Amino acid sequence: MTNKIRIGRLSLNLPGEVISKVTREVLDLFGIVIDEDSFDFAGIELFHDVVHGSPMRVATEMTLIKANGESKRFHAEGEARSDEIERAAINRLVKLNFYQLLRETFSFASAPWGILHGVRPSKIVQRYIDRGMERDAIISRLRDDYDVSREKAELLTDISFHERPFIAMTDPRTISVYVGIPFCLTRCLYCSFPSVILPSNDVLDEFMRVFERDLRAATSDVRANHFKVQNIYIGGGTPTSLPDGYFGRMMELVCGAFYNDGIVEFTVEAGRPDSVTPAKLSAMAGHHVNRVSVNPQTMRDATLRRIGRNHTAEDIVRMYHEVREAGLPSINMDVILGLPGEDEHDVAYTMGEIERLAPDDVTLHALALKRGSDLKTNLILKTMENDLPDDATVRRMYEAAMEKIRAMRLTPYYLYRQGYQSGQLENIGCCKVGRESMYNMQIMEEKQTIIGVGGAATSKIVNPKTQRMEASFNPKDLKTYLEKIDYYIEKRRNLIDRAYD
Ligand code: SF4
Repeated sequence: MTNKIRIGRLSLNLPGEVISKVTREVLDLFGIVIDEDSFDFAGIELFHDVVHGSPMRVATEMTLIKANGESKRFHAEGEARSDEIERAAINRLVKLNFYQLLRETFSFASAPWGILHGVRPSKIVQRYIDRGMERDAIISRLRDDYDVSREKAELLTDISFHERPFIAMTDPRTISVYVGIPFCLTRCLYCSFPSVILPSNDVLDEFMRVFERDLRAATSDVRANHFKVQNIYIGGGTPTSLPDGYFGRMMELVCGAFYNDGIVEFTVEAGRPDSVTPAKLSAMAGHHVNRVSVNPQTMRDATLRRIGRNHTAEDIVRMYHEVREAGLPSINMDVILGLPGEDEHDVAYTMGEIERLAPDDVTLHALALKRGSDLKTNLILKTMENDLPDDATVRRMYEAAMEKIRAMRLTPYYLYRQGYQSGQLENIGCCKVGRESMYNMQIMEEKQTIIGVGGAATSKIVNPKTQRMEASFNPKDLKTYLEKIDYYIEKRRNLIDRAYD
């Protein structure tokens, strides 16, 4: 949003962290900032009245105080659903009322996802499907309860139905394994991942020793709990930044630890062409890898240079063919929408180049400027802010990309959202029939345990009795990972033991 309205203060009558959080999320959505020193409006006062009854209602009075002290009142109210938990209904209605009041008062356009905030919106839809709701009823509910646009409500509902049979292919002892190799050859400008530039061989030797220890501990957890590994995903960083010998050894260790005849998917993020060699391709092919990510992000050389990627679009094309020739069956390609200096014509060009390659799976990411990304820091300090496309342009970029996705006959099969995404959009994976990434769907729906091994890896342990997921995090910082691995192994093991006692 380009609107930058400043208010001097915000006051709320309802206490609670969640109420305060959802209220601020609405301000963020419309680009409204609180600045007590310099403001367009002296303040907003919100009075929420929770009226218990059947159904429960939340009535909201919003008082907008102008800079000259004059004030104006606005009113909105909404009803809880019969199947909603009371606390959740109050939070939702507080947010929806405030969102609608601001939208009407300032004539803001609707946000594509309305008040739906959170990484995994499909989890909400999965709950509706569990209750027996049909497609049209789910779409109406998303529109009424969250003010989601029709386009996004249909997309989310269709994806949720599509992934249903895949996520059902699990049971409490079926798990996935995530392996984190936290190194990259250079750092991309927008990167917010915990990766470091490839260190010296001495440090890599130490990493491999610690990694092996981590891996062996995870293997014994898998055996002790009679887990069946369904998917292996090696990510990072860029795992292929490891030099040939280290990469080959890493593949051997991972495959030896977790590979079995029932593996559905074994993915390696090869990411960048400057990291891939014939020896690494043959190590992947020789260790049963069946899905590889080749990530151009853009096929415009000028943008690639600008975002700090040390390769050209031609290198991507070469790498793509090498991966195919190595016999690796499924290729995913990632594209980022909202890169500096780009618009919908650049995206149409990039997608045209990708269409010619015909990958099995394309993931569209809307650029998210999170803490930790150099771009965000540079933005504030330097000149790139003017070169970042605005929300309206990013949405046109999305349209251009989706047009090609349809032309390529790829089907959207999973989506997730991040904070601070350009155009208030989502990340969306689209694939050829039968090329859905099982791992991506399982990790999004959080119904399957995922054991994380390696640098910055997260373990997500789903308790089979309660279906609740708890996470354990390996350290993001390499030094801590190398020095304190035993502590983190123990933490992961305790979490698994508690869930599977
Ligand atoms: S390749 Fe990925 S992990 Fe590595 S620096 Fe770039 S964005 Fe970050």
